[in-house]
Amino acid sequence: MWCVGIDLGGTFTKAVLVDRAGNAGEVFGLPTPTDGDPAGVVEGMAEAANRVVEARGLSHRDVVGVGVGSPGPISISRGIIYAMPNIPFMSNVPLRDMVGKKLDLPVVLENDANAAAYGEYLCGAGEEARDLVMLTLGTGVGSGIIIDGKILHGSHELGGELGHMILVPGGEPCGCGQRGCLERYCSAHYVAAGATRRIREAPPPTALRAILDAKGSIDAKDIHEARKAGDKLAAEIWDKAVYYLALGCVNVCRILDPDRIVLTGGMTRAGEDLFAPLRDHFFRLHWSLTKPKTEVSLASLGSDAGSIGAAGVAWQTFGN
Ligand SMILES: [Zn+2]
Repeated sequence: MWCVGIDLGGTFTKAVLVDRAGNAGEVFGLPTPTDGDPAGVVEGMAEAANRVVEARGLSHRDVVGVGVGSPGPISISRGIIYAMPNIPFMSNVPLRDMVGKKLDLPVVLENDANAAAYGEYLCGAGEEARDLVMLTLGTGVGSGIIIDGKILHGSHELGGELGHMILVPGGEPCGCGQRGCLERYCSAHYVAAGATRRIREAPPPTALRAILDAKGSIDAKDIHEARKAGDKLAAEIWDKAVYYLALGCVNVCRILDPDRIVLTGGMTRAGEDLFAPLRDHFFRLHWSLTKPKTEVSLASLGSDAGSIGAAGVAWQTFGN
């Protein structure tokens, strides 16, 4: 028997087949239809699900259930997606029931970052971990927390939003209404935006200036590469982002003491140029009462984590 996991993204929808042991089978993806209506989006999701089932010569009778990982805000218990970045018409959509009706299968809805963390826990960087935290360093900072093998949702389904942990009292204003949130200091997007502002305000001597003038914008990769080439400002900006990330990781350890904190997303492409200074800061900021025991490492499933994790959530929900 199998479960289907669907990762619904603002630009791409992906489905995967996963067996009870966590082995992933067929994968199929297609662009998310962004210029129609919710029924069109559901149509695309159903097509991706049907493709992976048929590709293995199976029918719906071989499928136990379907898990859907969706960007938020969502209500997991009500199966509703309240809003979706990039797709304005996806507001207040009863996605769980629409997909269930279309496929005639039981469906469970989950936040995409939670689903990705669960995917890593089941078949990625979470091997032999009981408690795992995942941070995605993209446009914002997404996160998921797995405790004792279960996704932490909180009493109001608002738990595990580590990107909005306040690190700097009265700091940078965040889209969430708070100030000084972790994502304003560590996401690829905001690191680049902060650097751009800094160069425009008081132009210091930096190689980033020429890149900004030529391209009209800079991204986290430009900063990483300029740092590697010895640019002082790039090094300072990169180090500041890594410092705050380490601070966030230490706070996570104090609250949850997980086996592992795994990172993914654009900035992790820098590899050891991110992880080496991150571990340095982490060890230095960590309390001295015990040695750091939580491992900070790279996630291993890449962009498949969300769909695999969504299937895992379906197994957890409908497997018995
Ligand atoms: Zn925030």
